[in-house]
Parts: sequence; structure tokens; C-alpha cells
Amino acid sequence: MSTVAWEFKEEHFRGKRALVTGAAGFLGSHLVDRLLACGCQVVGVDNLSTGNLQNLALAKESPLFSFYEADITGWSPPEDTFEFIFHLASPASPVDYRRLSIETMLVNSLGTKNLLDLALQRGAVFLLASTSEVYGDPLVHPQAETYWGNVNPTGLRACYDESKRFAEVLTMEYHRRYGLDVRIARIFNTYGPRMRPDDGRVVPNFIIQALRGEPLTVYGDGRQTRSFLYVADQIEGLVRLLAAPHAKGEVVNIGNPNETTILEFAKVVAELCGCEYRVEYSELPPDDPARRCPDVTKARQLLGWEPKTSLVDGLRETIAYFREILAGKD
Ligand code: UDP
Repeated sequence: MSTVAWEFKEEHFRGKRALVTGAAGFLGSHLVDRLLACGCQVVGVDNLSTGNLQNLALAKESPLFSFYEADITGWSPPEDTFEFIFHLASPASPVDYRRLSIETMLVNSLGTKNLLDLALQRGAVFLLASTSEVYGDPLVHPQAETYWGNVNPTGLRACYDESKRFAEVLTMEYHRRYGLDVRIARIFNTYGPRMRPDDGRVVPNFIIQALRGEPLTVYGDGRQTRSFLYVADQIEGLVRLLAAPHAKGEVVNIGNPNETTILEFAKVVAELCGCEYRVEYSELPPDDPARRCPDVTKARQLLGWEPKTSLVDGLRETIAYFREILAGKD
């Protein structure tokens, strides 16, 4: 694929109406803020199973924003039309989707179908927030969109991995059968302010442990890798993917191509938190991917997108956020 000459313009969203599912979540709430800043009217929906209304404090000040607390597996918004639907509703951290395994499968299957039907009825462009988990424990590095993945279909992560894979193909079938304008973002590890302190993921765990002067809990030997993208870069990728006229029916990785081991990551977090580097090892959870790193050539060429925020800058913002949360708790 050669680079497409196209420039993203915020006007694409101005004066239009978007539905954002999972609006009170970490990514959903940042997306809502970004769309509002573009002058877009935003309808948010969330059942608050993993989301938090606090995340929408800024959005709620805008006359362009409205919110419904509802489960999207059987819900229809009263608004007549939407130009855009961003479908982000789903538990997304390994701890959350284990706890809510069946709910996760239902939101990604029935919920996705409900929203695809809505997109057809209301004439909306549909963006599915999918995941790097569709690649499972990948045997190919880095992972390009053409890789089919290596997923344990009945393992402890399957409720998420397989239901997102189902959501992807359902979305593609609506595109093939009905000509619906769809786009699929495969979201790799993303971090930033508004992550839940207790969502169990490595970023909040390490930062909170470091700020409390506790040892950082490394699962396994810490040589497994991830690549961490700052939330503002992720949101930029999502709005571009939805806006690009040539991205209809495309599947695009949005992630950071800089791969780091969990041990290296622990050292950076400890240093930026200004604490002594101490780790405590515990067992690696089953099916925990050994390596994960996106090939983002397609996002670069199709969307003119790339990560802008360094790990150090992004972590500084995130650490400041968790410092405030901890201060509020004391
Ligand atoms: N991890 C860790 N300590 C923690 C939490 C997670 O070592 O306190 C590891 C986890 O085993 C995985 C990586 O960090 O290898 C990223 O985990 P996370 O839950 O953030 O997301 P995942 O990428 O696995 O979906």
C-alpha cells in the first residue's frame, strides 16, 4: 500500500452527531472530549460496569453532550440520526473480562449486532474498537493486520479474544452484505489519565505500587513484551480512521511500535515515580502473550498517523493523575 495523500480536518465532525458506546470508560471518555472539541454533538452511553461517570465531568459541561446509562445489548437511542457510531463498549482489562466473562461475550456479539443494525437504520459510519488480543499469543512479530493470530479458543482470555474476533467478522459481514461503511481499529496497549486504579493492568498497578513505595508486582520473569501508546495518540488514530474517506472496510492497528519488556517498563515507572526499584515476582497468568508489538505501517500510510508522545512524557502525565487520585483517597 502506498501513502495516501489526505489531511485530517476537525471540520469533519463539526455540526454532526456521534454515538459513543462505552462513553464513561478510559478511552470512551477521552474520545467524547475530543469529538466535543471538534464541535460534534455527542451522545454517550455506558452501563457503568467498568466505566466511571467522573470521567465525563468535563463533557457534562458541554451543551453538545448527552448521556444514557444503558446496556447496549438491548438499547436504542431516542435520537433519529447519527452520522457516526464509535462502538467502544466492552470490559477491556484481563481482570475485568475474567470477572465479567459472559457479559463481555454478550456485549461484543449481541451488542455489536444491535449497533450495526442501528448504523444501517440511521445511516451512520460505524467504527468498531477491536483489540490486539485478536492476535492472541502471536507467533509473528511485529503483528500486521494480515496476520490471523494464535488464539486459545476456550482459554481464560477467550471470552474477550474470541468475542472481539466475532465482532470483527460480524462488522465485515454487514459491510459485505449491506454495504455499510465500517472501520475496525485494533487497539494495542494504551495508557493515560482516567485508567481505573483497580483495573488490574500493568500501568495502574506499577504506578500505584511505586507511589506507595511498594515493590512492583512482575508476573512471570518479566521478559514478556508490550508496547505502550499514550491515550491522546490513540484517540487521534480513532478519529482519523473514522474520518478517512478511503478507510471504508479497513482494519487498522493503532498502537506504539516501540516494544519494551515488562521489567524495563518497571524500571522506567520506578524512576519517574522517584522510588527505589524493587520488584516482587509472581506467577504468569495463563495465555499471557509473550510478545506484542504492532506493525503500524498501514496506519501511517492510510491515516498519516503516528505516535507523537514519548513514553516518559506520557508516563509523567499518568503518574500525576494517579498521584491526585491517591491524594484524594488519603
Ligand atoms: N503484568 C505484570 N504485573 C502486573 C500486571 C500485569 O507483570 O501487576 C504483566 C502481564 O502479565 C502482561 C503485561 O504486564 O504480561 C501487560 O498486562 P496488562 O494486564 O496491562 O494487559 P495485557 O497486555 O496483558 O492485556
